[in-house]
Amino acid sequence: MRKSYVILAFLFVFAFAKIYAQGITVQPVKPTASEIYQDLQKLNFLGSVLYVAAHPDDENTTAISYFANTVKARTAYLSLTRGDGGQNIIGPELRELLGVIRTNELLAARATDGGEQRFTRANDFGYSKHPDETLAIWNKEEVLGDVVWAIRTFKPDVIINRFNHRTPGSTHGHHTSSAMLSVEAFDLAGDTSKYKEQLEYTDTWKPSRQFFNTSWWFYGSKEKFDEADKSKLVQVDVGTYYPSLGLSNTEISSLSRSQHKSQGFGNTGSRGSEDTYFELLRGEMPTNNDVFQGINTTWTRVKGGKAIKTILDQVVTDYDFTAPEKSIPQLAKAYALVQQLDDAHWKAIKSKELQDIITACAGIYLEAAANTGYATLGSEVTLKLEAINRSMQSVMLNSAVVTSSNQQLASDTPLANNNSLSIEATVTIDDSFKDTSAYWLREEGTLGMYRVDDPTMIGKPETPQQNKVKFDLTIAGVPISIEKPIVFKYNDRVKGEVYEPFEIVPAVSSKLDSKVIIFAKAESKKIPVTVTAHQDNFSGSVSLTAPSGWTITPKSVNISIALKGAEQKVIFSVTPPSTDSEGDLTPVVTAGNKTYTKELVTIDYAHIPLQSLFLPNKAKIVRLDIERKGDYIGYIQGAGDAVPDNLTQIGYQVAIIEPSTITPELLAQFDAVVVGIRAYNVVDEMQAKQPLLLDYVKSGGTLIAQYNTSGRWGDTKIGAPYEMQLSRDRVTDENSEVRILAENHPIMNFPNKLTQKDFEGWTQERGLYFPNKWDDAYTPILSMNDKGETAKDGSLLVAPYGDGHYIYTGLSFFRELPAGVSGAYKLFANMLSIGKQEKSEIKQ
Ligand SMILES: [Zn+2]
Repeated sequence: MRKSYVILAFLFVFAFAKIYAQGITVQPVKPTASEIYQDLQKLNFLGSVLYVAAHPDDENTTAISYFANTVKARTAYLSLTRGDGGQNIIGPELRELLGVIRTNELLAARATDGGEQRFTRANDFGYSKHPDETLAIWNKEEVLGDVVWAIRTFKPDVIINRFNHRTPGSTHGHHTSSAMLSVEAFDLAGDTSKYKEQLEYTDTWKPSRQFFNTSWWFYGSKEKFDEADKSKLVQVDVGTYYPSLGLSNTEISSLSRSQHKSQGFGNTGSRGSEDTYFELLRGEMPTNNDVFQGINTTWTRVKGGKAIKTILDQVVTDYDFTAPEKSIPQLAKAYALVQQLDDAHWKAIKSKELQDIITACAGIYLEAAANTGYATLGSEVTLKLEAINRSMQSVMLNSAVVTSSNQQLASDTPLANNNSLSIEATVTIDDSFKDTSAYWLREEGTLGMYRVDDPTMIGKPETPQQNKVKFDLTIAGVPISIEKPIVFKYNDRVKGEVYEPFEIVPAVSSKLDSKVIIFAKAESKKIPVTVTAHQDNFSGSVSLTAPSGWTITPKSVNISIALKGAEQKVIFSVTPPSTDSEGDLTPVVTAGNKTYTKELVTIDYAHIPLQSLFLPNKAKIVRLDIERKGDYIGYIQGAGDAVPDNLTQIGYQVAIIEPSTITPELLAQFDAVVVGIRAYNVVDEMQAKQPLLLDYVKSGGTLIAQYNTSGRWGDTKIGAPYEMQLSRDRVTDENSEVRILAENHPIMNFPNKLTQKDFEGWTQERGLYFPNKWDDAYTPILSMNDKGETAKDGSLLVAPYGDGHYIYTGLSFFRELPAGVSGAYKLFANMLSIGKQEKSEIKQ
């Protein structure tokens, strides 16, 4: 675990040094005098905007940045899902791991544009053509409740929907659903009879206005938009220039959008005036293009706020960019008044903002750094506290306490100007320390919903950092408490100072090499289990559980690991039953009366903090009667998929082909060559090498190309041997009927006889971007369609070419094979075996 931490340690690269309070909590915040001034202006605005859409990357970052930085409103993006169903162009993670990446990309985006981030429990289960389907797979009542919860807790004055709730079927079903639920929740949030259980933790809320963030695109063309009635449209110029940041709003928006790296959303900034439109759905139409018109957004909004307003208006007027500390006495006075407010909502928000501003003005820096990135319950860590005041203000550190265990680390120490206080203490990680793992992945959910047992966690972007040190200070006579999460900090010889989260982890984790293990024969396989200790001197035993009919030997193996971070590998022999069977294989580590069944998955990319996830560890084991011809397969990776690993599972030897190394001699070695998903979209060299691949087919080879998206390169660049046109045809219902068009074609018969039964148990979808026009040289093999649509026959096209075969398929093998879908394995084996029947007969 640690090895990868050290080698691949993350690095934050942000557009500006300021990291906003919410979101990425690992890297310390060090605001400049200009940023403090921005924050002071924001302190004096008491209004909120909630932006609603379905996925990470749906949000209009220009609008979010505009409301956060120009209007200075509290601005949040409610993304109904975490984007698990998307594709990943930066790495192999899919499903919930992709959801973790995209959650953090949203947090990085918000850290850039100044917004906050919220979610619901809805799971992005994949593409959906209609909200009816979406809302049948999501638990509609629960997701609606989560939107109501977001409104009741965030308390927006204005809600803005990204999508149109009146046009179901015109875009992704999740998109329309997000708008429909937002419209419905607008009324329910204020109704005490709805979602009553929430009122134990919050109160009702009535937003004032709701808009749809429209644009000419929703009207079909710019001309149509020019002619449209705009009496219900608020028009806003979002091209503000911020001299204090040296950036235009539209530049910040691009920096924010570019955080969606897994989706390839790198974006180049623009400068200058730019209009955005908001169509009024609810509330009174503003007459001045101000979405807050008529809503009091000053301190007088709250009872007792007038005196605070007087003080803070003066602070803004008197602010000295060369000496922000001069503002402290007045800020301290305002802070004391805020503590007397009855309005708990604004009191909490403004107290936190004031604390941050006061400490920033005083150049106060507080840190609690552990000597390790992770610890198990019962262990000890060394904690190093740093506290410094870099101002002439009198600052007293009254106490520093570990919040969970109440261990006192410091007391009654004055912090003199620019004298760093450093304290080292040993801290026992007792049972009071909180689990730091992703809360929405702790329990297994359903296809459409995450399971979250703690209602107060719902909506939070990530598990809050609950292992903290609380610093009680007195600044300019006012008591102020500041909590700092415990972090892991170390020096990297190349990167310098590196911060990582401090995680509470189980004593041990285990790992299987594969998530799906296919037994193509009745023979047993050696299955290694790697056990990693996360503490010193771990001893226990490991065993494997399997469905009945499967035999595991030995029953259990003793393990003993001396050093934290070290591993021990244990080999089990797993023998399948003689007939088809499938189920889960789960390693169980036992120590005393405790059992451990989780595996550690780390996700490490430069643009997000290091993620250490402990997830249920299991592999799907499948006993499958499968035949294959040919042995040696060449695989050209595209956007990244696990198909090569899956093919080795059924006995193929797979070589990854680097496109630049493609030569006729290289290709001649292979029994078939497979092109990974979207290779023609993302690997530039494919175009140049395609003639060599076709020559290989001509002289008897088999080339299988998996799905590419239509549009980006046009259709000819796939370089198919005969004309073929990619379309956006897709079949998203994984249970849709599959009709076999070419029953006698070898691909349906050799070496495995395929029937409709082999299309049962597929996952997420059938396939995508099917060709919708093709030359007669191709044989369409299968026909399928989603409910209410015309038949789509282009999912699997096969054509002889020279002495070989060319196959193009939009079927989602990249999802089905990793999921252990047996019919998909048989079909892929038949694709790889095509033409091999005749050859073996000729040889004999
Ligand atoms: Zn979307």
